[in-house]
Amino acid sequence: MVYEEEMLGVINMPKSPKCGKEINYLRDFSPVWQEYKLTIDKNGDADYEFVDNTTSMDFGDIYECPECGEVLFTDEEEAVKFLRGKTSEKGE
Ligand SMILES: [Zn+2]
Repeated sequence: MVYEEEMLGVINMPKSPKCGKEINYLRDFSPVWQEYKLTIDKNGDADYEFVDNTTSMDFGDIYECPECGEVLFTDEEEAVKFLRGKTSEKGE
């Protein structure tokens, strides 16, 4: 990979397809369930005890543009390709 980068010389920074700004990273939001233990306390009120926030949800990460906040990708492979500047979509 190093050789390939040297041959390319200047790496073109990918542009957000939504706002057109050059971005060198994406905001990756990784959803998880927050698990609480719900009990009733001695006053009869609901009591929430935090248990865990590491359980993955059954849908994947979303990748947002840091400039405009639009969701650009929901697929990790596509997001990585985009940041490498090798997306197959050329808007020309
Ligand atoms: Zn943008």
